[in-house]
Order: sequence, then C-alpha cells, then structure tokens
Amino acid sequence: MPVDEKKVQEIVQEVMAKIQIAQAPSGKHGIFSDMNDAIEAARKADEVVRRMTMDQREKIISEIRRSIRDNAEILARMGVDETGMGNVGDKILKHHLVADKTPGTEDIKTQAWSGDRGLTLVEMGPFGVIGAITPCTNPSETVLCNSIGMIAGGNTVVFNPHPAAIKTSIYAINLVNEASLAAGGPDNVACTVEKPTMDTSAIMMKHPAIQLIAATGGPGVVTAVLSSGRRGIGAGAGNPPALVDETADVRKAARDIVNGCTFDNNLPCIAEKEIVAVASIADELMDYLLTENDCYLASKEEQDKLIQVCIPGGRLNRKCVGRDARTLLSMIGVDAPVNIRCIVFEGPKEHPLISTELMMPILGVVRAKDFDDAVEQAVWLEHGNRHSAHIHSKNVDHITKYAKAIDTAILVKNGPSYAAIGFGGEGFCTFTIASRTGEGLTSAQAFTKRRRCVMSDSLCIR
Ligand code: NAD
Repeated sequence: MPVDEKKVQEIVQEVMAKIQIAQAPSGKHGIFSDMNDAIEAARKADEVVRRMTMDQREKIISEIRRSIRDNAEILARMGVDETGMGNVGDKILKHHLVADKTPGTEDIKTQAWSGDRGLTLVEMGPFGVIGAITPCTNPSETVLCNSIGMIAGGNTVVFNPHPAAIKTSIYAINLVNEASLAAGGPDNVACTVEKPTMDTSAIMMKHPAIQLIAATGGPGVVTAVLSSGRRGIGAGAGNPPALVDETADVRKAARDIVNGCTFDNNLPCIAEKEIVAVASIADELMDYLLTENDCYLASKEEQDKLIQVCIPGGRLNRKCVGRDARTLLSMIGVDAPVNIRCIVFEGPKEHPLISTELMMPILGVVRAKDFDDAVEQAVWLEHGNRHSAHIHSKNVDHITKYAKAIDTAILVKNGPSYAAIGFGGEGFCTFTIASRTGEGLTSAQAFTKRRRCVMSDSLCIR
C-alpha cells in the first residue's frame, strides 16, 4: 500500500500536539479543593488589587494577553480533547481574539460635571470578589475574557466552571495567576476548585464576600443566579435566526451564514442556528448553500434520524453538541464527502432541528411568504431570549423593522455572526453576552459599580 505522505505528516503533528499538551506545565495557582478556601484566597488577593494603580492592573492584563497568545494552541487542543466539542483551528482564532480585542483598563471611564457649585465625578469602582460561572462550550475563552475584564475593573474572581471542561478551565486560571505574578501582582487573582459542582456553586452564590455573580450558560444557571439574592449578570441561551430578504446579495448571504454557522462547529451562542428566507429568493439561497458552500441536503428520512440521535426524547444529546457535520452524518450512517461543512434542509419553524438551540452545524431553512411573515417567524424562533439575530438585506426599512421586532442584544447585518464579537467586524470581543439582564456585550465596565464623588464649591476652574 503506498504511503500517504500528507496523512503521515498530519498524524505526526497530531501526536506532537498531544505530547505538547501532556507536557504543558500544569501549575496549580488559584486552584483549591474547597470553595470557601478559594473565595478566601481571592478576597486576600483583592485587598492587594484594590490598592493597585490602573497602570499596575494594565501590566497584569498585558501579561495575560501575552500568555494567551503563547498558549492559544494548547488551550484550543485541550478544550477539544476534554469536551469533544468544537475544532482546534477556530478555537485558536477565538483565543487570539480574546488576547487582542478584550478591553482592558481603558474601558473604565469617568463621568464629570463641573460648575459654580464644584466638581462631581462618577467613577467606576470595583465590586471586590466576583463569582463567575462558565460554560463548557467556550471554556478557556470565557475564563480568560472574564478575567481580563474583571481585573481591569479592579476585582478578583472565583470561577465555578462547567465540570466537563474543568481541566481546560484550571489551565487557563493558572495562566492568569502566573501572569499576575510575572507582572508583580498577587497570586490568586482568579481562583477555582478542583471539582466544581452544584454545591460549590451554591456556596459561592451565598458567600458574603461575593458581591456580583456573572453567569454564562443556559437558562438554568441564569435563573439560579437571578434567584440568588445577589446582583447578577445573566448571559443566557440563544437561538439566532438569520433572515434573508428579497433585496439581499443572496450569494454572499449564503456564504456568510455558512461561515458563521460552522465557526467552531456552531458552539458560539451568537452563531446562526436557522435561516428564515423570503419565498422569492428561498430556492436561489438553497442552491448557493448546496453548490458553493459545501452543504449536505438531508432527506426527510435523514432529518428524522438526526432528530433521534441529536435530540432523543426532546433532550439535547451532549455527544452531538459542537461536532462537525460529517461526524453528525456518520452517526446516522451517512458517509459524507470530505468537503461537507454543514447540513441543510427545508422545514417549518416548528421542526425540532430548527426550533431547538442545537449548537451543531445544522441549518434548517424556513420559507416565509413575504418580509413581514419572515419577521414574525424569526421572532418566534428566537424564543424571547433577546440574545442574537442576523439579517441579510439592502433595505434599511426592513432592517429597522426587524431590529425593533426581535429586540436582541446583537443584530448583525450583512455579515457572518462572529462579526458581532469583533472577528471581521468593528468593536470589542466578549464571550459573555448578557442577554437576560441587559448589559449586552460585557466588558470591564459591566464588572464595576458606579460611585459618585462630589467636591463642593471647589475645583471648578472654568
Ligand atoms: P450549561 O447551562 O449546561 O452550563 C453553564 C454553566 O452553568 C456550567 O458551569 C454549569 O455547571 C452551570 N450550571 C448549570 N445549571 C446550573 C444551576 N441550576 N445552578 C448553578 N450552576 C448551573 O451550558 P453549557 O452547555 O455549558 O453552554 C451552552 C449554553 O450556554 C447554551 O445555551 C448557550 O447559548 C449558552 N451560552 C451563552 C453565552 C452568552 O454569552 N449569552 C455564552 C456561551 C454559552
């Protein structure tokens, strides 16, 4: 049998990467067996951080950025290995995005009034120790992005990460502390426990040292945090529809939607989860999906099999979440060509593969009789999450009408969904989109409290 040189190279690279992960220094800075100890350590670190200058905070953040860039591939491979979700290439890009575009201390702004009666400032002050709950879908991305924003705001943080991604989360938390120490800051600016559970989460939510909780995940965790009696930032689930109307550049819309939908195998909560297409362009769109964008058209029988495998009994099968299209197809006995990136089909909005937030590269296309019908169906599909939605249209009245009707934290027009988090779009990056509580895309500002500082009858020098 002839030796396939390319295949051998790939296997060697894969093995080398696994050795690199196995040999990656697994420091234990910030890692505790008991949640109360983790909170106490973060509280002690907070006593140091709150006395730091902004410049010192920024030095720590610069070190974190450098460390993320140095470790992007290890973190990406670790995340995929541990969770089985997503793909290494896109996860590397996501880590670079966090390093490059997560705002630091420049995000902390002061508001001022000066006049005859003196000078009044509103400053953005730290909360102290923040509790953060993170998902398995973007584990180290969220830990690192939260850490930068929270430290920029003058806080320290205790994480209760998803148990399915604890190894990757611990690796990221250790990096944050090593970066702090390298920049002359304290250890334990970010802490966690070796075995996070619902109990450790409950301890964190009730602990008197925790003033703010930031929850990134599905509806369960956001509801739990909002019921905790503490101030909570709730970054919950989505099911973003991509609406395509008759004025769109249909060819580009097909390309953008597939690029957004397949990014990290559809794991980002902002990613296109279904299409709503106006009837007059629906066939043309489907044609572009199939002929130019490596999509696989699933038959009715294959759709039924996908329902049984991906959402058996209506419950999301975790073994399918974040898998690529060919793996999903192989689970229903289809050996798809190597170029296949996405599974498509046409169906009604109630179709389970369309109405459920799958986090898989499966795009159902819902046909709408006209634009108003498309808006109505898209709003229904978003399920009132008010998280993310996308539109491909050249008609500003249509865009405005859709934006008002769907009322989401994110609305991308004429681009792939990831433009919303600064990837090929303007603006900063975040992996915590506070859809439920209204902060929207979080940054350091969201992790601070407003403090009014009044000088009476002085310091106005106008
Ligand atoms: P998940 O809800 O299963 O878990 C998220 C985190 O919450 C984990 O740490 C988990 O242990 C914890 N958790 C779950 N239920 C809890 C409860 N009742 N009390 C306390 N903690 C609880 O979500 P996941 O599978 O890790 O992530 C995918 C989900 O998160 C999707 O719904 C996705 O849309 C959403 N998400 C949202 C954002 C955002 O910024 N809005 C970002 C990423 C993911």
